[in-house]
Amino acid sequence: MRSPTAPAQCGLRPRVSIYTVRPLKHALAVLLLTLLTQVGGILYLLHIPIARKLRSLFPGWRGSLIGATSFIILLVAAAIWVIPTVARPIGRVPLPLRATTEVPLAPGGWLTVLANRHYVKPEMLDVLQGVAKRMAARFPGTELRYLDANFPFLEGYPLLPHRSHDDGNKVDISFLYLDEQGKRVNASPGLLGYGYVEAPGPGEQDQPAVCADRGYWQYSLLSTLNTDDTDLTFDEVGTAWLVRTITADPRIGKVFVEPHLKTRLGQGGNDKVRFHGCVAVRHDDHIHLQL
Ligand SMILES: [Zn+2]
Repeated sequence: MRSPTAPAQCGLRPRVSIYTVRPLKHALAVLLLTLLTQVGGILYLLHIPIARKLRSLFPGWRGSLIGATSFIILLVAAAIWVIPTVARPIGRVPLPLRATTEVPLAPGGWLTVLANRHYVKPEMLDVLQGVAKRMAARFPGTELRYLDANFPFLEGYPLLPHRSHDDGNKVDISFLYLDEQGKRVNASPGLLGYGYVEAPGPGEQDQPAVCADRGYWQYSLLSTLNTDDTDLTFDEVGTAWLVRTITADPRIGKVFVEPHLKTRLGQGGNDKVRFHGCVAVRHDDHIHLQL
């Protein structure tokens, strides 16, 4: 005789209830958004009742689509208007959303801003504004493009996958690039601005190979983003000028670029230009600077 608690042998698999799946889906979304954008997880939780209401008003796929759209609007509105207002009094300011004639400083990609990864201490903002103005004076029409900086809140909160962007003192910036005609352009390759490496040439120090030989598998991980579909080429003259100008500012403590680029850009005697170690990722696709 079958136990009353034994599952029925009807040939069907046990059904997974939406009451099991939905909390898991929400937990995963909150975790990912918190890791990638810091405040996105909180915004997601705040949006759950709104999404529920929209689904009841618009049944089926329309409710899901309208719910997703309203969440994106909430993320954008928070990133542009709310978070800067809250972060500013506690010591982190957002980098500019677009370049102007007065301050030619802009994000390398819109995802950086949408994910709240563009916050620095006011001193770093001042450094970047100064470098951007000098760059536009030296190379008219060019803009300084920033990549990942820091999150808006909490000292020590990690900005993954970076090891040190956690205090408002650090920022990555893009190299300068030339188009097919050799003209300096305001563009960063790729969606995120990382991964398009200016690799060591023949006779240059090949640090990525050294790190790989030592077992640091993550060192060249971001270069897997490189799909080689860019027409941009590395601007050696402009980037060398950029590194020199950044390190001439006494408020800048260190700059990280790959050892072969330090030599190629003529910065061999510049003590502020350092090697970051094999535990980080390679720095021949961007410049890291810190106060
Ligand atoms: Zn960095």
